[in-house]
Amino acid sequence: MSALLHAKDLVVAYETGRGRVQALDSLNLTVEPGETLAIVGESGSGKSTLGLAVGRLLPAVALKESGSLTLQGQEVFAAAPDALRRLRRDLLGFVFQNPMSALDPTMRVGRQVSRAAGGCGTAEMQALLVKAGLDEPERVAASYPHELSGGMAQRVVIAMAIARGPALLIADEPTASLDVSIRARVMKTLLDLQKDAGASLIVLTHDLHLAARSCQRLAVMYGGRVVEVGRSATVLSRPAHPYTRGLLAAAAGNEAPGEDLKPIPGLPPLLRQRAPDCSFAPRCPFAEARCTDLRPEARELDRREVVCHLAERVLVEASR
Ligand code: ATP
Ligand code: SF4
Ligand code: MG
Repeated sequence: MSALLHAKDLVVAYETGRGRVQALDSLNLTVEPGETLAIVGESGSGKSTLGLAVGRLLPAVALKESGSLTLQGQEVFAAAPDALRRLRRDLLGFVFQNPMSALDPTMRVGRQVSRAAGGCGTAEMQALLVKAGLDEPERVAASYPHELSGGMAQRVVIAMAIARGPALLIADEPTASLDVSIRARVMKTLLDLQKDAGASLIVLTHDLHLAARSCQRLAVMYGGRVVEVGRSATVLSRPAHPYTRGLLAAAAGNEAPGEDLKPIPGLPPLLRQRAPDCSFAPRCPFAEARCTDLRPEARELDRREVVCHLAERVLVEASR
């Protein structure tokens, strides 16, 4: 089976007034057809940059500097304008944190959903709304976005994202702006529709509980790299990276579902260039001299991939 999405040594940087920020630091990641993958990490770890890069939707100040990103074998950053439009329209569906920013405030919802579905008729448009869990499709279709609740608006966005049967859905904090009481139900709708469509799903989130409940695979990002990736159950039951371990300890059931990760002491890095060492070293309880001398690279260990010089030791700790 060939990968649906493949990022190899992907480097994306932002040129800002205060200098260059390297948001993705030679990132590697693969997504297979039909799978669900959660990407977790603190604020600034590069989750949204990665999500936007998949659709080549990065702002003008961002530059893909090197590496490759392919979707069904097509190089996203080399696609001609027509091919890029097709790729976005036929392969991708996006659900962002704030549904209102994805909807046109001046157009009735039904028309927006029809357009997203390529100009479909009323019956098909209403069927999409029902699929997305909206049980009064006529009323919703006749409404303007501001007349809907946040949860309803996000369901409309989900209906639009699945309208053309995408191969990959990318959901960036899809429930974070919603009332806690409806987050689980909206997430379930997204997962049901992903499954029905046979699409792959990437959920980008701070919420480790949401990630663990929703997705088969889990990737942990730190400093613009995927530092650990494997089956969610494997990674969460026996983390091999100290950062994953720290996230788990911070989220050890003390907070309500949907609450953000409590920060591990210290601050995430603001990278100006490729990290020459392990960028987690200043916060890592396992760090030794080699961590600041040598950049760790990804390797297979105990049924997952991990980027840490001392992962064997971390695993032993995890099984104690
Ligand atoms: P959050 O959890 O807060 O959404 P994130 O993991 O999605 O964070 P990104 O938004 O991808 O992280 O940011 C990665 C890095 O790129 C950060 O250092 C951020 O400050 C920087 N960055 C992101 N967007 C821009 C931008 N438009 N201009 C300049 N720098 C940016
Ligand atoms: Fe910690 Fe060293 Fe592993 Fe980095 S490489 S996570 S500093 S033990
Ligand atoms: Mg983000």
